Amino acid sequence: MKKLALVTGSNGGIGSAITEKLVEQGYRVIAAYLTGELSIAEKWFEEKNFTSDSVRLFELDVTNTEQCAKRLHALLEEEGTVDVLVNNAGITRDGQFKKMTAENWHAVINTNLNSLFNVTQPLFAAMCEKGHCRVINISSVNGLKGQFGQTNYSAAKAGVIGFTKALAFEGAKSGVTANVVAPGYTGTPMVEAMREDVIESIKSEIPMKRLATPAEIAGAVAYLASENGAYVTGETLSINGGLYMK
Ligand code: NDP
Repeated sequence: MKKLALVTGSNGGIGSAITEKLVEQGYRVIAAYLTGELSIAEKWFEEKNFTSDSVRLFELDVTNTEQCAKRLHALLEEEGTVDVLVNNAGITRDGQFKKMTAENWHAVINTNLNSLFNVTQPLFAAMCEKGHCRVINISSVNGLKGQFGQTNYSAAKAGVIGFTKALAFEGAKSGVTANVVAPGYTGTPMVEAMREDVIESIKSEIPMKRLATPAEIAGAVAYLASENGAYVTGETLSINGGLYMK
């Protein structure tokens, strides 16, 4: 029997690399995509040459508490306990705080932070019962150091770290670990949408003078998911080329 992983935002830049890596490592991946975007998810599935044996597309709006509870409880019945949960879905809605709208504040907190309740809560009890499971949450360097124009995003991503440390206590005696991967700027559509000169100025501030690749972030997730990561819990693994050293 393959181990089961669930990845939210699976068809995004980093989510794709995580899904590919976990498939490569022999997992069956429940690839959660945003509700209403089945055709995009199906195109992605085909482009990646996945098979239905290793990847199952799964509709989930991580901001919708009721939908998550209903669909994830049904998933438990159908597929069994999730061994590895990767909370990866996220958005940015940047803007200076003086001008930030309530809409952009709530959208970012809901997608990046409240999603952790919505997705993890329905699955966590079964993970503890089974034991030796993993929760891996994707934060950001900007949750660690703050960023101009990102009060909403930095707050949410810092919240991800607090949530993870507290959850680590609750899973520890069952051998269920909870950890954070905090990427620096990574070459995905989220970053590539920025102006070229902004990307160049970001790179110039990174000691390693380049963006991370999605595969480098996925490698950290795979490590935390593996047996080698069994004794790591409540930690934040920064993958940021030296941009921020705690
Ligand atoms: P992408 O925009 O490529 O991927 C984000 C994914 O989240 C998409 O698949 C998106 O779906 C999905 N998503 C958004 N809203 C929802 C929702 N309500 N329900 C379900 N899924 C949703 O971004 P990245 O791959 O770059 O980011 C992945 C994670 O990494 C995020 O948490 C991000 O904050 C974090 N990160 C990224 C960095 C970077 O430099 N790229 C740096 C640090 C952290 P859809 O495309 O259909 O909207």
